[in-house]
Amino acid sequence: MPKQKARAVLIQQGVIGRIRSPPRERIACWNRGCFMKPQRDNLLRCVHDKCTVRSRVNQPHLAYSPFYAQASAGWDVNYAGLLRTCYCLGIKAANDQAAHLSRDKDQSFRSAQDMVHLFYKKHRVVLAYAEKIHASQEVFQDDIVEVDTGRTSGKTVGGSRHHQRRLLALKGRLQKTWAVHSLETKISDGKRGSPPETKSEMTPLLQGSLGKGVVVAPDSAHAWRAAASGHARLTGVSHLRKIYTPASRLQKKPGQKD
Ligand SMILES: [Zn+2]
Repeated sequence: MPKQKARAVLIQQGVIGRIRSPPRERIACWNRGCFMKPQRDNLLRCVHDKCTVRSRVNQPHLAYSPFYAQASAGWDVNYAGLLRTCYCLGIKAANDQAAHLSRDKDQSFRSAQDMVHLFYKKHRVVLAYAEKIHASQEVFQDDIVEVDTGRTSGKTVGGSRHHQRRLLALKGRLQKTWAVHSLETKISDGKRGSPPETKSEMTPLLQGSLGKGVVVAPDSAHAWRAAASGHARLTGVSHLRKIYTPASRLQKKPGQKD
């Protein structure tokens, strides 16, 4: 894909702005909060005559875009590379594969590797943010919702274990919808496993996601009972024993004790 075409796609999608008209919503004058416009010297200046505010943002059309760090350092920006690495991430290509797939004819493999490394990181931030928005808007209704937490990373620091990248996953068994919330890193002493979920951590997330007619299927951790109060609960789930949403007895009243 030629550079100009890739640039047009990115402008159309709102990733970058047009050179002479940087997106209004991104850069405002910090003196009055009004619009700033690029002058002949390409510096941004406030549209008010009497305001002397100038911006040090040297390429305003690329500000708050994935290209700004490169562009402000004087490098050539690679619009097509961004689109190609997007595609590679979408087909779950590993970094080295992606470097082969997204490389330009005259680009060295090493440079393509650097490009993939740079853009993959940015794509992942975008995906994580999209996931956060999705999870905050997803409300389950008339469904059996299984809830559990897990972590995808951890390390030992000075004798205590740091449980990182913790997630709360909610899965609707009937409608096959799901939501994943990210949780804070937790620390446990010695070789012990992740500390149990707390009520205060789970309550706002669960109460925001569980709508009308939901039957919750948590495992036996205590925090769930309080956090899912007001909703009917399926008992008998044990993730340790690999039992998920079994055909178990449904409580008659929401909040009734086991
Ligand atoms: Zn101003």
